[in-house]
Formats: sequence, structure tokens, C-alpha cells
Amino acid sequence: MKKNIILMGPPGAGKGTLAKQLKEELHLVHISTGDMFRDAIKAQTELGKLAQSYINRGDLVPDDVTIGLVKERLSQSDCDAGFLLDGFPRTLVQAEALNKLSKEISREIDVVVNLDCDNDELVRRISGRRVCKNCGAPYHVITMKPKVEGVCDLCGGPLYQRKDDNVEALKVRLEHYVSDTKPLLDYYKDLGLLASFNSLVGKETLFDEVCSFLKK
Ligand code: ADP
Ligand code: ZN
Repeated sequence: MKKNIILMGPPGAGKGTLAKQLKEELHLVHISTGDMFRDAIKAQTELGKLAQSYINRGDLVPDDVTIGLVKERLSQSDCDAGFLLDGFPRTLVQAEALNKLSKEISREIDVVVNLDCDNDELVRRISGRRVCKNCGAPYHVITMKPKVEGVCDLCGGPLYQRKDDNVEALKVRLEHYVSDTKPLLDYYKDLGLLASFNSLVGKETLFDEVCSFLKK
């Protein structure tokens, strides 16, 4: 089985949703840099204060900060079971740092699961997205409604709209994706690690496809 996994794809492609499904099914640790930053912002730690302004306008948090955060998390013992990196790496500098780190701690990447999605659909998904304030579970006002409006099905927490889920910040995020993150697909293709999936098939079908691929 492939157990040390990177999830890649543009914002809104469904990395977070897929990560939560895979985590349950395969008992992997979910490492979302976006969630880690949002937790830090909520707690107003030094990290949170620093990350906040970058995130709200859709920019990337500086590499050294992000790399330090992942380094610490990935070195913890629960990652022995395997991990899903969601939202990291996002730049070539991050990918190279991860390459080095994963060798040092003997947690080499087995596969990069890339989610393809077209732009109009990304905009639709992000503009209707709501997220649980407690557990981070994603919803959508039209396509993924919770059972009770405004309340998380999983933990009962309140749903909210992320500050960066607006048209202006999304535009910046998509630009960063194209200029900084998309080139990583070639980087991982050259390493023989890239596997791409079409995320337009719907979340259950996508989950089945990725799951059976990872179990091989
Ligand atoms: P999405 O994939 O929907 O854009 P995430 O929750 O993964 O959102 O990330 C939200 C924001 O957190 C990013 O727009 C960026 O500002 C910051 N961030 C997350 N991961 C990284 C990273 N690896 N490098 C730099 N910034 C990051
Ligand atoms: Zn919740």
C-alpha cells in the first residue's frame, strides 16, 4: 500500500474532502497546512498573527515558516502510520525541502495524488463553500448541504465562510497555483510519483478510484 501521500490540486479541487475520507478509510494522519494556519490564527499565536495577513489576501505564507511547521509535524511519531499532506508543498523550494527532510526522517513520499478540475467549477465550489469552525469539515451551500443549516453534521460545530473564500482572494490563490504550485506536477512526474485523477466525477467516485489505487 502507498501510505506517504501528497495531495495536490488547485484550491477547490477537493483535497480537503478527499483527505478526510481517506484518513478514515486508511488510518492515515491528515496534515493540512491551511488547517494548521487557521488553528494558529484562531488561537492568535505568533504564527497565527504572522500568517493571517498573507492568508486573508490569498497570498502564500513565506516558505521558511511553512517548511518549519511541516518539519515539526512530520517528525512526530504518529506519522509512522502514513500521512496525507494536503496543501504542502506549494512551491519548488518547499518540494525540495520536503525531499530532503523525508529522506532524513525515513518517511519518503510514495505517491503524489493530483486532482484535476476546471476553473469555472473551482469558482463555483469555493464561492459556495462553508467550513466547520470546530473540525474543519467542508460543506457547500448548494451541493453539499449539512442536515441542519449552519451546523456541522460531524461535530455540531458552527459553519462559516473562510475569509479567503471571496472572489478577490480566490483570484490571487489561483494565480499562485498556476505560477508557484502547478510546476511541481512536472517535478513529481520526473520523480515517477505523479498520479492524476479527474475531480469532476463527484466525491464518492473520486474516493473509490483513489482508494483502490492507493491500496495496490
Ligand atoms: P486552498 O487549498 O483551498 O487554497 P488551504 O486551506 O490549503 O486552501 O490554504 C489556505 C491558505 O493558507 C493559502 O491560500 C495560503 O495562504 C496558506 N497556505 C497553506 N499551505 C501553504 C503552503 N504550503 N505554503 C504557503 N502558504 C500556505
Ligand atoms: Zn465539525
